[in-house]
Amino acid sequence: IGFSRSASISRSVSLAQVFNKGFSSQPGSKLEGKVALITGAASGIGKATAAKFINHGARVVIADIQHQLGQETANELGPDATFISCDVTKESDVSGAVDFAISKYNQLDIMYNNAGVACKSPHSIVDLDLAVFDRIMNINVRGVMAGVKHASRVMIPRRSGAILCTASITGLMGGLAQHTYSVSKFAVVGIVKSLAAELCKHGIRINCISPFAIPTPFVMEEMSQIYPGADDQKLVEIVYRTGTLEGANCEPTDIANAALYLASDDAKYVSGHNLVVDGGFTSFKNMMLPAPS
Ligand code: NAD
Repeated sequence: IGFSRSASISRSVSLAQVFNKGFSSQPGSKLEGKVALITGAASGIGKATAAKFINHGARVVIADIQHQLGQETANELGPDATFISCDVTKESDVSGAVDFAISKYNQLDIMYNNAGVACKSPHSIVDLDLAVFDRIMNINVRGVMAGVKHASRVMIPRRSGAILCTASITGLMGGLAQHTYSVSKFAVVGIVKSLAAELCKHGIRINCISPFAIPTPFVMEEMSQIYPGADDQKLVEIVYRTGTLEGANCEPTDIANAALYLASDDAKYVSGHNLVVDGGFTSFKNMMLPAPS
């Protein structure tokens, strides 16, 4: 994400406040009896969403490439969470995770293709390493496509299901991230629009969420390279300072709430939609008038 160095620091936060928010929200029953599979759920947005879904009565399969962290997350979230090791760049892993959900719970109601990575590619197209481009597209785009494919395989015969994907505000506007990451997120929105056309005939909804910047592990890693020597709390504050909505910060729980809405019957007639959770950031650009002479 293309942060500028000019952000000033004004809001005081702690890392624990960021990462644990939303894990103890009020229980509800919007997903009672449902089974969800979430990729990239060992940490960040995926983990917060898994916690939210479980709070609302779902059983959740956490699929992630990080074996130990994924297992720890499942243990932390309790008996309604199960971990399966899954690299979304391997179609057999994605297919296996879907089959695991079916064999364990006999159904798959919600597939959330959330796994994604940022990249350290240079900002100029002239210096682009196409091998890096291929790697990012493999995870952020091909991995999502594999998830949609294998979820559809089991949902089409049942004529129901909700598929979610994590896009980004960097897939709405240029200039917010390195080209490779931004292009990959534009493609995620494209996947949702294209697949909605086919899946609606089978009673399956597909939507995506475009979050604003949130200080999850991959963003923190990027920030620590831009601001070497700054401690975590300072980096979190800088990320928050980039937001435009006064009095609130974008947190994993905000994306979990959006995912809960899209996965539940509250959104029973919503498909092909990109739910932007950005505090209005991509809706406007303030006019910069020159100083009076
Ligand atoms: P995160 O780093 O906390 O979580 C990403 C997870 O994806 C990790 O657990 C990681 O192990 C997993 N993962 C990475 N490669 C994988 C692979 N090949 N197979 C399976 N799992 C893999 O970061 P996050 O912010 O929670 O990211 C989740 C999604 O949100 C990503 O798609 C990201 O692009 C998107 N997003 C994040 C932000 C933000 O500012 N944090 C903003 C917009 C969109």
